[in-house]
Amino acid sequence: MSFKSLGLNDALLKAVRKQGYENPSPIQEKAIPLILEGKDVLASAQTGTGKTAGFTLPILQILSETKKPNKRPIRALILAPTRELAAQVHKNVVDYSKFLDIKSAVIFGGVNAKPQIRALKYGVDILVATPGRLLDLLDQRALSLGRLDILVLDEADRMLDMGFLRDIKKIISLMPERRQNLMFSATFSKEIKKLAEGILHRPISVET
Ligand code: AMP
Repeated sequence: MSFKSLGLNDALLKAVRKQGYENPSPIQEKAIPLILEGKDVLASAQTGTGKTAGFTLPILQILSETKKPNKRPIRALILAPTRELAAQVHKNVVDYSKFLDIKSAVIFGGVNAKPQIRALKYGVDILVATPGRLLDLLDQRALSLGRLDILVLDEADRMLDMGFLRDIKKIISLMPERRQNLMFSATFSKEIKKLAEGILHRPISVET
């Protein structure tokens, strides 16, 4: 199996090659075609499996192939539990979007919000965020999720463990109902299954 046979475009294939990846990992083989088809996906994946590229690559392809509305409203949001993970996911987004006309930003707590607000002002196609800081900036009207097409919950189990359930629900209430949802979690407790049922629409489960 090659990245090309998964349906990725030349700009993404070039970026993947630049990273030195030769072949897709199992989670990438399964998730990438489903996400490109527009399906909701519920994936069980640990860190180190290549899950980040598994959702980032197809999202970048979808964003680059659909018409960019004026002023670049946020069309994809990736929620992550910690600032370390958010920063790491955003680095992936930057690396893989090198040859595309896609703008991205990352926001997380524990640092001054002003530079983050400034970055959002000029419009980004894809935002990586931790729930608390995202809610803060939504309250301040520093951004809007009214044009969102794709939502990713990365490490959803850790987000629940950290007590982000209420924040996540509030954030989701500010999005259009019609959208593509992707959820990644290392474990599947009753709580995670309930969260998935409330958010995902006819999801396809992917295991590795
Ligand atoms: P992740 O599970 O997303 O945290 O990724 C773990 C590591 O695997 C990261 O350092 C990625 O850069 C790397 N990686 C992701 N996909 C591939 C691939 N197909 N081949 C080789 N390395 C990869």
